[in-house]
Amino acid sequence: MHPQLVVIGGGPTGSTVAAHASGLDTIVVEEHASVGTPVQCTGLVHPRVVELASASETVLNTITGLKLFFPGGRMLDVGSNEPKAFVIDRRRFDEILSARAVDGGAKLLTGHRFEGFERIEGALRVRLAGPEGPKHIETPLLVGADGYKSSVGRCAGLGPCRETVRGIQAELDVRLEDQEKVEVYLGSKVAPGFFAWVLPCGERTRVGLGVSAEHGAPNVYLAALIKRRGLDGARRTALNAGIIPIGPPRRTVADNIVLVGDAAAHVKPLSGGGLLLGMRSARSAAQTAMGAIASGDLSERSLSSYEDAWREDIGKEIDRGMLIRKVFTGMNDRKLDEVGRMLDRDDVKEVLATGDIDYPSKLARPLLRRVPSLVKFSPTAIGRLLRR
Ligand SMILES: Cc1cc2nc3c(=O)[nH]c(=O)nc-3n(C[C@H](O)[C@H](O)[C@H](O)COP(=O)(O)OP(=O)(O)OC[C@H]3O[C@@H](n4cnc5c(N)ncnc54)[C@H](O)[C@@H]3O)c2cc1C
Repeated sequence: MHPQLVVIGGGPTGSTVAAHASGLDTIVVEEHASVGTPVQCTGLVHPRVVELASASETVLNTITGLKLFFPGGRMLDVGSNEPKAFVIDRRRFDEILSARAVDGGAKLLTGHRFEGFERIEGALRVRLAGPEGPKHIETPLLVGADGYKSSVGRCAGLGPCRETVRGIQAELDVRLEDQEKVEVYLGSKVAPGFFAWVLPCGERTRVGLGVSAEHGAPNVYLAALIKRRGLDGARRTALNAGIIPIGPPRRTVADNIVLVGDAAAHVKPLSGGGLLLGMRSARSAAQTAMGAIASGDLSERSLSSYEDAWREDIGKEIDRGMLIRKVFTGMNDRKLDEVGRMLDRDDVKEVLATGDIDYPSKLARPLLRRVPSLVKFSPTAIGRLLRR
């Protein structure tokens, strides 16, 4: 087999690369027996993600606002009259994107794990392990869409990401009364270094949280949150855990190799959401792949047009998200409560209600205009944020 493009990972970004690399002879390699499982996602996305994926049939619920809980117990109720986010069936979402790649001509090789590669004259000899033993594929271009612990990235000497957050989520067989608002919890006792969520999803409820890597296992915090929320009597229908990569590595391309999605930490640093950024970077990668194959130049220099493209498209918002995350992780519970007190005003909640989950940095200026004293929490980082 000598395909022009080999994509490792049949998740949403791998499938998006394959679907958009039209005309290229492409193989998508997925280690699991089928795409879409195990699910390691809350499935909360802005409506633009569903539109980008043309996957409206995956929508399970519509969210119009949030209830933000501070460590001391203060709650900010922020509502709006418009859909702010959809809750999606993530398994179905992945299946749809994969089917689209296959319909476009890509071959899907499930049950095969990428194990490494050797460089041969101008190309790569990719090693896979499958049910019938080892397999080799030669290709001029390898895309690593293999998630946060990208083996492709490691073998290519790219990465790792700058930080990781450990996520965990339980789906409970219980219906929340308020189906329109996501609950978000902050504080060192709930989710140190990140946040926790309770998400209404019809007859089911998704309860989860993230914890910075240095704070250990997240399952203890999950049990405490479910109890605090009074949901410990509900039957658990699913439990999933995963790692959220934060902060892209310095380089995401090497000779004959490109990283996309979680493999490149194309994830919003503040919320951990990676579907929008991953799919956008995947489209850029497909463009670069087609150009590079057509020209026959698969050098790092040629492929760096992909790196320029994603930095231009999503890089600035990732950088701003890193700065906001720095301010956030620098706050102890007392400071978070002080912020809660400062934001608990009708005119400020009106500003919060205009927020967009994909562009949290857009709230910085209007919020600071209403509450200038917020700047005291990190004058340097906030100053840099406003200059970007
Ligand atoms: C708890 C949690 C909640 C989240 N919630 C949200 C959310 O609400 N909204 C949002 O936008 N994002 C969310 N995310 C992030 C989102 O799930 C990821 O950003 C997204 O899945 C990235 O897609 P991907 O295709 O790059 O990687 P993945 O979805 O991780 O896919 C990688 C694929 O590569 C395969 N693979 C890995 N190694 C190999 C190998 N060696 N050989 C062959 N195949 C391999 C894997 O089996 C997998 O199918 C969440 C993440 C976590 C952990």
